Amino acid sequence: MMYEADSKAIWLDEAHIETALTSAGQEDAGRIREVLARARDLQGLRLEDVAALMAVRAPELVQELHATARQVKEEIYGNRIVLFAPLYISNLCANECLYCAFRKTNTEVNRRALSMDGIAEETRIILRQGHKRVLMVAGESYPGSGIDYVLDAIDAIYAAREGEASIRRVNVNLAPLTVQDFARLKERNIGTFQLFQESYHRPTYAAVHRAGPKRDFDWRASAFDRAMLAGIDDVGMGLLYGLYDWRFETLALLQHIAHLEARFGVGCHTISVPRMEPAIGSELATRPPHAVSDADFLNLVAILRLAVPYTGIIMSTREEPAIRRQTLELGVSQISAGSRTNPGGYSEDERFESAQFQLGDHRSLAEVVRDLGQHGFIPSFCTGCYRLGRTGKDFMDLAKPGLIKAKCGPNAISTFAEYLQDYADAADREAGEAAIAATLACMEAGPRRVAERLLDKVRQRQHDVFC
Ligand code: SAM
Ligand code: SF4
Repeated sequence: MMYEADSKAIWLDEAHIETALTSAGQEDAGRIREVLARARDLQGLRLEDVAALMAVRAPELVQELHATARQVKEEIYGNRIVLFAPLYISNLCANECLYCAFRKTNTEVNRRALSMDGIAEETRIILRQGHKRVLMVAGESYPGSGIDYVLDAIDAIYAAREGEASIRRVNVNLAPLTVQDFARLKERNIGTFQLFQESYHRPTYAAVHRAGPKRDFDWRASAFDRAMLAGIDDVGMGLLYGLYDWRFETLALLQHIAHLEARFGVGCHTISVPRMEPAIGSELATRPPHAVSDADFLNLVAILRLAVPYTGIIMSTREEPAIRRQTLELGVSQISAGSRTNPGGYSEDERFESAQFQLGDHRSLAEVVRDLGQHGFIPSFCTGCYRLGRTGKDFMDLAKPGLIKAKCGPNAISTFAEYLQDYADAADREAGEAAIAATLACMEAGPRRVAERLLDKVRQRQHDVFC
């Protein structure tokens, strides 16, 4: 296989990770408190500091870790949570990932690649729920030639209309591409390009990816380099937790981010933290070899929040509502809602026999929005940064000095108010308006004025209002 950009993930330094984990050793309360104090400066943490936090066990230190994460989350993100819907366009796949129902030789799954009309229909149903952001997902085998199918699919999603409403940002979760194909993807105006390395532990990676292009660890690990060379500067990383030790994996992911920061001046925009869920025809997914307990999972989210404070953390509907709620406080900034992981799932409902994995949260968008409000969060449908070109380094340059808050807060309020007007029933509208009023009351004068100006426009029935 020909590589166009750094073919080997030489930034992955397994020995450094092992040394950091061994030196962190047992829980050291003094050292942990010193790291937590440093984390409050919002400058992120070094690998050795993160390894020290991974040793936290004692209940009072767990509480301190969580309290620090809550404080950092509140300071940077306030109470807003961004919402999106995944849109699975195809479950055809050339790979043999042992944990996934879509793997090539799995005969228990119903195969399907949606037509462009089918994709438009799915999009309209997602729009009827009130969503404005979609994460388009596909297996690694496209009908027709090359990636034209996914490029056309992106166009079909943007072109779909439900009344006046349309999708305002399409993020994608797709297999690695060449620089040339990444450039074509960028032309389609994608938001974030997401790709999960699944495991940074080479022996584990080789053991669970049995056939197909995905067997090539370095081709996948160098995908973001190629994406960035092609001008895609919002990238989303992730891991499949349960394949190998979560501590090793998380430190490796932080090395990956550090590599992108050193080379391109910007790391990743988001991190996804999927835990392996049961999948039809997968033995491995039923019994993950390194299952991450709920307690470790909460610590992991809190640690990521402190390690990379300005990077969004995404929680999907793989998780059940109760754990989703807890992670929102500790660091998660984006969640999916009302999801289906079977192609055609919005038109035909959830079907495990063609889905990628089992869902843990089956609630509709309206139910998730209601629940967020009841727990003091403001649901956000904002797509402002991407629409105004505030991506990659430009976004981080605003985020790190704390300036992005003045945009995100008002935009969350205006997009939530638009949702309430267009999609909510009377009771939800009343509760939502009360949540908006309470949030406005706590805002600093400048952002509050901006939010009120945007709100006035929404109340005059203007749509898509943002700053
Ligand atoms: N096929 C492409 C790929 O693998 O990169 C893109 C999308 S794949 C459908 C999306 C992600 O689903 C994978 O990267 C993997 O982390 C996750 N996944 C696969 N099987 C899963 C399972 N059993 N439980 C939870 N997540 C799973
Ligand atoms: Fe295919 Fe992605 Fe599933 Fe692997 S994880 S089998 S590449 S869809």
